[in-house]
Amino acid sequence: MTGEPSGEGLANPDFTDLRVTVAGLGVSGVPAAKALHALGARVTVVNGVAGEQQRAEAAELEALGITVRLGDGATLPEGTELVVTAPGWKPGSPLFTAAARAGVRIWGDVELAWRLRELQPGKPAAPWLAVTGTNGKTTTTRMLAAILTAAGLRTAAVGNIGVSLLDAVLGDEPYDVLAVELSSYQLHWAPSIRPHSAAVLNLAPDHLDWHGSMAAYTADKGRIYQGNQVACVYNRADPETERLVREADVEEGCRAIGFTLDAPRPSDFGLVDGILVDRAFVDDRVNSAQELAETADVNPPAPHNIANALAAAALARAYGVEPAAVREGLRAFRPDAHRIAEVATRDGITWVDDSKATNTHAAEASLAAYPSIVWLAGGLAKGAVFDDLVLKSADRLRAAVLIGADRALIREALARHAPQVPVVELGRTDTGAMAAAVAVARDRAQPGDTVLLAPACASMDMFANYNQRGDMFAEAVRRLGADDSDESTDTP
Ligand code: ADP
Repeated sequence: MTGEPSGEGLANPDFTDLRVTVAGLGVSGVPAAKALHALGARVTVVNGVAGEQQRAEAAELEALGITVRLGDGATLPEGTELVVTAPGWKPGSPLFTAAARAGVRIWGDVELAWRLRELQPGKPAAPWLAVTGTNGKTTTTRMLAAILTAAGLRTAAVGNIGVSLLDAVLGDEPYDVLAVELSSYQLHWAPSIRPHSAAVLNLAPDHLDWHGSMAAYTADKGRIYQGNQVACVYNRADPETERLVREADVEEGCRAIGFTLDAPRPSDFGLVDGILVDRAFVDDRVNSAQELAETADVNPPAPHNIANALAAAALARAYGVEPAAVREGLRAFRPDAHRIAEVATRDGITWVDDSKATNTHAAEASLAAYPSIVWLAGGLAKGAVFDDLVLKSADRLRAAVLIGADRALIREALARHAPQVPVVELGRTDTGAMAAAVAVARDRAQPGDTVLLAPACASMDMFANYNQRGDMFAEAVRRLGADDSDESTDTP
C-alpha cells in the first residue's frame, strides 16, 4: 500500500493544534469539522449562507468547542494551516485564492477521509475500489457493492452516494473493501488518494462551468487512476478514458483493463453471445475467457447498464472475487429510483422513468435502449446542445412531448434533424403539467412503444429535483390507469 500517513506534509502531521478552516457546513463539512476537532485540531468552519439549517448546524458544532463563522465564506481566517472543503465549492472561490496565496493546502472531504483511514485504532484501512464517469457512477458502484457482498466481503457503497467516505472511515463498522463513487468535484480536491483499482466509465461535457473547461474536467476525472495497484478499468468505446489510463502514474504491475459491449480482446471484459465474460483475470487470456453472467442477469438489461455491469465486474475481479459472486451480485442488485425504472405496462405500452437522465449523454443511452419511443423531455438545458442526441435517436422516435424552460432548444434540434417526428410542446409549468404531458404521450403511443421520461435536462425549472419529477411522472401514469379502470367499470 502507498497510503500516506495522515497529515504528511503539514506542519503538525498528527493534526494536534493544527489550525484548520473547514469550508462549508452540511453533509461533508459537519463530519469533517467534528473529526478534525476530535483529533485535536483548532477548527474554524466558514459558511457564506446563514439560514435556519446552517444556524442549527453551527450551534451543534459550537457546543463541541468548534468556531463557526456564518455569513462570510470568503475570508480566510488568520493563521489557517489547512483548508478542508465541501466538494461543491468552486476552485475560483475567494477563500481558495487566499489560501493559495498563503501557500495553504486545500483538501476535500475525500482527501481527508483518505488521510484519516490510517489513523483509526484497531480498524484496518480498507482498500478502495473507485468509480467515476459522467454517467453510471451510482449504478456501477452499487452493482460493485452487491458483487462484493455476494462474495462474502464486508463492504458498502460510499462516497458521492448516501454514506460519506468520512462516515465509512470513522465509523465503528469494519470493512474489508469499499466501493467508492467519486464525482469530478471530489477528485479535484483529492490529490493523494490511491485506490486499489478504479474505473472511468465515460466522459461527456458536464459541470464545465465548475471545472472551467473539458480538459480540466477530464484531468480531474483522470486523478482516480493515480497510484492504482491492480487495475485501471477503462471504456473501450471511449478513447479518452484509455488515454487517461496511459497518462496515469500507477504502481508497478498495475494493468489496463478495458470493458466493451463487443467481443473482448485479451485483458478486456466484454460480451460473447449474450454472456458477460472476463478475458483479463484468467490464467490464459490469449486463448480463454471466463463466463461471469448473462445479460438477463443485469437489471435492467439496457446496453449502457450492461456496460456498467462489466465495469463493476472488472473491479470486483481485480480484487480477486470469484466469478460466481459476479452473477449472484448482479442478480441481487436493484437499481436506484428514477434510473430507467419501469413504472407500468398497459395496453402494450411500457412507461419508463429515467428522470435521472439530466444530461444529453445519459438520455442518449436510455433512448438507445428502446426501439420505438414517445420521448418526454425538456427542462433546464445547462448550456447543452441537442443536435447529436437527436441525430442518434431520430429513427427510434414515434413522437416527442416537450416541457420545461428550454424545450425550444430540443424542438429546434428535432426540426433540424428529425422533421418527420411529431412534436407536442407544453408551455405550462404548474403542478398539473406532468400529468398533461403524460396524457399527450398516451395519445401518441401505440402498442409496443415505450413512453420514456429521459429529459436530457435538469429539473429545477419546474420541480424540486429529479426525484420529484420522476415521482410526478409515475403518479400521473398510475392515475391514467386508475382513470381507465374507472371508465371501464362505468361502461355498461
Ligand atoms: P451518476 O451517478 O453518474 O449520475 P447513475 O447511475 O445515477 O449515474 O445514472 C444516471 C443516469 O445516467 C441514468 O438515469 C441513465 O440514464 C444514465 N446512465 C447510466 N449508466 C450510463 C452509462 N454507462 N452511459 C451513459 N448513461 C448512463
